[in-house]
This record gives sequence, C-alpha cells and structure tokens, in this order.
Amino acid sequence: DPVFRLLGLDIDNITMAEAVSLIQTDLRDNRQQAIYFVNPDCLNKMAGDREYYDVLKAGDSIFPDGIGLTIAGKLLQSPLKENINGTDMLPYLCRMAAAERHSIYLLGGKPGIADEAASNINREFGVTIAGTADGYFNHETETGRIIDDINRSGASILLVAFGAPLQEKWIHHHRNRLQPALLMGVGGLFDFYSG
Ligand code: UDP
Repeated sequence: DPVFRLLGLDIDNITMAEAVSLIQTDLRDNRQQAIYFVNPDCLNKMAGDREYYDVLKAGDSIFPDGIGLTIAGKLLQSPLKENINGTDMLPYLCRMAAAERHSIYLLGGKPGIADEAASNINREFGVTIAGTADGYFNHETETGRIIDDINRSGASILLVAFGAPLQEKWIHHHRNRLQPALLMGVGGLFDFYSG
C-alpha cells in the first residue's frame, strides 16, 4: 500500500529513492508541493493542536520520520518500506537538485546557522544555495520581506527549519505567495549541518 493511515493522516509508504524521484518530477513540472515529516513527537503535538493537524492534512506528502513510525506500521500491519527523515533525505535531495540545476533557500535556525549550513551543504553536495535567513525574525512585520527575498532568489526548493509545528504552519499559511515548487519543513536540520 503506498499510504499508511495513522490517526487520520495519510503517511507515504515509499522508499527514499521513490520519494526523491517523486520530488524530482514535481520540480520538473514546477508543481508546488508542501512536504512534511512526522515522528511520534509530532503526533503528540498534533493531538493537542487542531491547527497543526489541519495543516498536516492539507500537505501534499507526509513522510514517516523515525523508529516510532516503523513500530506503529508493524503493529498496524502496514509495514513501512523505509524511514524517511529530513536528515537522511538531504544528501539525495541536494545531489538531485544539483544535477537538475535547482537551487535551495535555507530559512530558519539561529542567526548565522543557515549561512554556515549553506557553505557546508554547497561544499559537500555541489548544490547552489540561493539564499538564507534565520528563523528569529518578527513574523508580524518581517514575513513580507522574507518572502520577497525567497522569491527573488529564484530558488525552487525552500527548506524551513523553525521546528514543528511552527514551520508547517508557516509554510501552509504562506504557500500561495511563495515561488519555490518544493516547500519542506526540516526541524533542526541546519544545526546538524552547521559548524
Ligand atoms: N527555530 C527557529 N525559529 C524559532 C524557533 C526555532 O528558527 O522561532 C529553530 C531552532 O533554532 C532549531 C529548529 O528551529 O534550529 C528547531 O529544531 P528542533 O530540533 O527543536 O525541531 P524538531 O526537529 O523538534 O521539529
């Protein structure tokens, strides 16, 4: 089954290679996709946060992040083909993006972190990082400026790292104004690639 239903969510039951290939096709077609990862911690937050649940439901794909989802799949007799989390996906995503000449914008993390991650990711995977911004701007007054910067950068991939559920809500709220085709919430990913 390509989908694993859990707590009302349709979680994609596919391999990493299939996931990256689907993303590649959507990028080629310039079809906008909001993609979220869920782990048990997210499901826990979702139980007490109706808006987060609605945002996840409205996403285009949800990927299963972590051993907890694998165990749930086993218990519910829908074994998951593969665990798909942002950290594991990044190398495949970046290599594909480099080959397809797509650039990436990194939004989130403490000041300086996305910049450091940008150099490291560029050096390691050869992909162009079109721009960066930290995740501690004033959401009421500065969101417009951030969105303009993302759109002007020409990036076709936007990685948002504010942590769940803030990043998912932000993507959902602003997706109509965002040019990049792929919008993805990636949690603490830039911290992992900084330094
Ligand atoms: N963060 C941010 N803006 C905020 C709150 C958090 O950019 O207003 C960043 C924070 O610096 C960290 C990431 O979001 O890099 C959250 O990482 P965490 O591992 O806690 O997220 P999770 O994996 O739990 O979604």
